[in-house]
Order: sequence, then C-alpha cells, then structure tokens
Amino acid sequence: MPISQRDKKHIWHPLTQHNNTPDALGITKAKGTLLFDESGKIYIDAISSWYTAVYGHCHPILIEAAYHQMRQLDQVVFAGFTHEPAVKLTEKIIPLLPYGQNRVFFSENGSTAVDIALKIAIQYFHNKGDKRKVFVAFEEGFHGDTFGAMSVSGLSVYNGAFEDFFIEVKRIPVPTEENIDQVLQHLKNILDKGDVAAFIYEPLVQGAAGMKMHEAKNLCQILRLCKQYDVLKIADEVMTGFGKTNTLFASEQVTISPDIICLSKALTAGMLPMALTTCTEKIFSAFLSEDNAKGFFHGHTYTANPIACSVASAAIDLYQSKIIENGKLKIEKSHDNFLKVLMHDKRVMNERTNGVILAFELNTPIDRYGKKRNEIFQFFMEKGVFIRPLGNTIYLTPPFITSEKQMEKVYETTLECIEKFGEKNE
Ligand SMILES: *Cc1c(COP(=O)(O)O)cnc(C)c1O
Repeated sequence: MPISQRDKKHIWHPLTQHNNTPDALGITKAKGTLLFDESGKIYIDAISSWYTAVYGHCHPILIEAAYHQMRQLDQVVFAGFTHEPAVKLTEKIIPLLPYGQNRVFFSENGSTAVDIALKIAIQYFHNKGDKRKVFVAFEEGFHGDTFGAMSVSGLSVYNGAFEDFFIEVKRIPVPTEENIDQVLQHLKNILDKGDVAAFIYEPLVQGAAGMKMHEAKNLCQILRLCKQYDVLKIADEVMTGFGKTNTLFASEQVTISPDIICLSKALTAGMLPMALTTCTEKIFSAFLSEDNAKGFFHGHTYTANPIACSVASAAIDLYQSKIIENGKLKIEKSHDNFLKVLMHDKRVMNERTNGVILAFELNTPIDRYGKKRNEIFQFFMEKGVFIRPLGNTIYLTPPFITSEKQMEKVYETTLECIEKFGEKNE
C-alpha cells in the first residue's frame, strides 16, 4: 500500500482539518533543492521546507557532522553536564549575533524558543521585584503554537478554543510611513501603564502573515520607545535568521539591538530540530542570586542535544562558505530582476523582496486555507514546484543553492499561475 494510504490509519497531521483535506503526499527522498514523491515525481522545494533546508536537503557536510557526532556522544543530560558540541556552537554563534547577545539557552523548536523568551522576560522583572505581566506584539505576528507563543501571535485564526487562557497581550499595527506617528502614540499609551514586560516582533519580515515587510527605520522608532520604558525587546528571528533577508540576521539592519533573540528553523538547516534563545549579560545577571528560586527553572529532555549542536555548527560554517554566499547573492539578484517583471503586471499587488524572500499578492480574493488556495498549490505541484500559498499571497524562499535553471522554472511557473488565477487590477 502507498505511504499516503497507510498514513490515513493513525496519523494526525498539523494544521489540518482531516474531514476535507486531500491525502498527504508521500515523500520518499530529498536531495539538494529537490523532493521526490512515492510515484517518482520530482519537485523543486521553493520554500526550503518552511525556510529550514536553506543549503539544500541532505547536505553531505551536515550528514557527516551528524554521523561523526552520533558515534562520539549521542545524548546526555544538560543540567550539570556540558559537552564540546554545545560549547563550540555558542563560541561560533555569539560573535555573529547582533550587538550585546552573550548567553544561549537551548530548546527544540521555534515555539519553545519563544516561550522561553517570554518566561525569561517575566522572571527578569519578577527577580527585580517588578511585577510585569503584559506583552506587546504586532498585529498578524506569528510566533508559534505552544501556549505562550500562540498568545503573542496575532494570527490565531483557529485558536478560539484557547482565547480565555491566553497570556495578556496588547497589539500594535505594523508601522508604515503613514501610520508611524499613531503607532508610536498608541504604544506610548500602552507603555505608560508600566506593566509591559516585553515587546516581541519578527524583524523586517513577518513570515506567516504572508512575508509582510516593514522598514527598519520605523521598527527602530518602536524599539527606541521600548528602550526608554525599560521594556525588553524580543526579536523572533526563527524565520528571518540565517540569511533569509539581506543579512545573516534581520536585526543587523535595525540600529537598536534586541535584548533577547529566538532562533530555530535554518539553525540546523533542516537536518534536526533545535532552537536557541539568546540574551544579553544584563538579562542573565538578573537570574544570579543566593536565592535558588531566582534561577531559571526551565529545561527540556533534549536540551542541547549534541548531534543537533554539531549539525548547527556545521551549518554555520556552510553559511560562511563561498559557494553558499555566491548562491545567496545570485538568488537575491534574480529576485530583483523578477520583481521588475512583476511590477508591470496589473494582476499582481505589493510585490516585494528582501534577501532570498520574494512575495506578492494575487489580485483575487482567496481565503487563507480556502479552495482556490488549494488549487494554486496543486497548480504549482503539477508543474513540479513546491510552494505554500497563504491565501492570495505567493512567496518564494528557495535554498541558496538553487540553480539558475531551477530558479527560471520557479519564476516561469509563477507567471503561469498569475496568468491562470490573477485578475486585472484596473
Ligand atoms: C515557524 C516560526 C515559529 C515557530 O517555530 P516552530 O518550530 O514551528 O515551533 C516562531 N516564530 C516564527 C517567526 C516562525 O516563523
């Protein structure tokens, strides 16, 4: 029996209404930019499997790093023990992070990285005798699906069952040239109450919102205001981190540095689940005390798994290699050219790019998980290109190693999709 049929007996898929969803596609193999399904059909992974496999799937250097570490030390408790892969990873990543980051807390996914950041922010103030329980977040932000992360996410469309249990969050609109003064005034009114612990934001690009982009200088004004009120700034770089934008981390393009950063997804380049929550020494020192209770009593069984740490270190080396650097530059350049094509197309709106991310809206009303959205998804899949449209938003985040020919095919398919589904915006 095909995998897709055996799947149906026991598996509960994420983000899925099982009553009306087509069978899941059985994937048997991945190599570089390509995914292979069980019927032998090949797809270009034009979103790097949710922005993880940015150096291509099954990269031999990452396989080697995992295999080498597996034979040396697979797993050990990280409370009271330490190991070379974890130490090495922190030594590699700290100098690369935006100004001031100095401590690293490990977990396994983006949502836990965010939950840890929120808990650190609350306890930071608690330890100083200051009770702050409110978070500020952007409308349409996405930070994950665990309770804390879900609470700060503005995109909680299907989370109605949990709303009574959310932590307290005040939302501000994403800043634009037009609304920045109102946003700042609105934020000031919120901060004046004195109970805000932290502001959490996806710097420059809001991934799940549909790759919505905002200007660094406007974000900077918001961060400056937070700083004035001694409110912690949490940069959720789970999506933007590791070169998705023009820089290694999007926060590098913003002059005010965050106090806490969340990383995951491309950290291990799609090979293993792992996440980091980093912070400044100022935050960390608020947890040092004669009083044990002021320590951060949070931990996961697989915290700093040695194999994941080794793969993450190898992935950082890869990012710094010439091949990857050139590949990334090539995609950024070809995106710029494709943007010029889209600019003249009346069936397309808000075409935009930053780094390897390119996105636009089709000028036609489509529900986020609606029927037409599925038709567009199927259209691309039939042509051998894997993307995940978000409503009428089409976005690309191809692996940095995607060849020119493969990029051409992705762009061509995109134009065909516009031809088939777009309506003229007169
Ligand atoms: C994907 C994502 C998360 C959640 O990460 P998971 O590993 O899926 O839990 C959090 N924040 C942002 C910005 C993301 O893109």
